[in-house]
Amino acid sequence: MIRPEGCKNFNMKTLLLTTEREDIEKAARIIRDGGLVAFPTETVYGLGANALDEEAVARVYKAKGRPSDNPMIVHISRASDIGQLTPMLSPDIVALIENFWPGPLTLVVKKKPGVPDITTGGLDTVAVRLPESQVALDLINAACCPIAAPSANLSGRPSPTRAGDVVQDLDGKIDAIIQGEDCRVGIESTVVDMTGDVPTVLRPGIITAEALEAAIGKRVVYDKSLKEAREHVALDPAHGVGESDFQPKSPGMKYRHYAPKADMLVVEGEREKVKAEIHRLKELNEKLGNSVGVIMFEEKAFIEAAHDFFAKLRDLDREGVDMIIAGALSDADGVGFAVMNRMLKSAGYNIVRV
Ligand code: AMP
Ligand code: MG
Repeated sequence: MIRPEGCKNFNMKTLLLTTEREDIEKAARIIRDGGLVAFPTETVYGLGANALDEEAVARVYKAKGRPSDNPMIVHISRASDIGQLTPMLSPDIVALIENFWPGPLTLVVKKKPGVPDITTGGLDTVAVRLPESQVALDLINAACCPIAAPSANLSGRPSPTRAGDVVQDLDGKIDAIIQGEDCRVGIESTVVDMTGDVPTVLRPGIITAEALEAAIGKRVVYDKSLKEAREHVALDPAHGVGESDFQPKSPGMKYRHYAPKADMLVVEGEREKVKAEIHRLKELNEKLGNSVGVIMFEEKAFIEAAHDFFAKLRDLDREGVDMIIAGALSDADGVGFAVMNRMLKSAGYNIVRV
């Protein structure tokens, strides 16, 4: 049997599949029969179930330990399949589909009654994405149903960007894992709400609000909770942000997310000062007997940071470090903003400014 990297002596309970045709067929059958299959996409690994099968979707919430008001993204393999899920496609929605699908963009649209409430966390809207990953497309095609797929991690843990990460969190809890390549993007899709007057980004990703604006020729805003979270920290770094301090429109954004096992701190400021402060804090902590892992990306290497961030968190957890210190990225850049959204959440908004 093939073992994911980092799991050499793993006694796997969950079926591990390849990306070969027969294995994709096997995985599709599992989905059709109401089972759960983790599979690679270009963003992160997803945990898939038939989006129209209430019992199967209930199993996804259970396997992940995900709160039931946190809706799933429904994945389709042909753009025209969005018509099964929503009654109305505005010209803006059509323009975004034409410009960004297949790809890491999720559209929140009005839902048709046939989409089960459990899939949408009780909302009357549904989040839809057409991924670019060929393995994901092949699986959805073979399953012949839309696939609800949140990230294939335990709720609250860093998102999985490699098959081994999925094994670590979900082995024995799901029916199968398709072992594909490491995810190209590394952070989850941009989620944009298309149900209001102004398109609103609920979750930032590598497709930025500016890119969306360029495609539809009108203003796109970030949900104010995303900026508020950031401004709160800026106003009062010592206070941090509690879950009750802001009310995002996307239910999933309010939960503690992406948390490594180690305590985590983000250092923000002018680059040389950040480096010096990280060095100082590392030495100080090591003197006191704590092992410290550092995450510091190259300046302006936003795409690389997105690709590596979750993997680094998980690697440092595997090493068993006591503390992680990360250097903040500039969030003047849209992709930097998306990575900072994850970084601050993983650190529980624990931040120092130098
Ligand atoms: P994940 O499945 O882990 O990638 O998370 C999916 C994200 O999409 C979460 O932040 C959800 O809250 C958000 N989401 C899914 N469906 C909707 C919806 N109908 N309205 C708003 N946000 C949604
Ligand atoms: Mg997730």
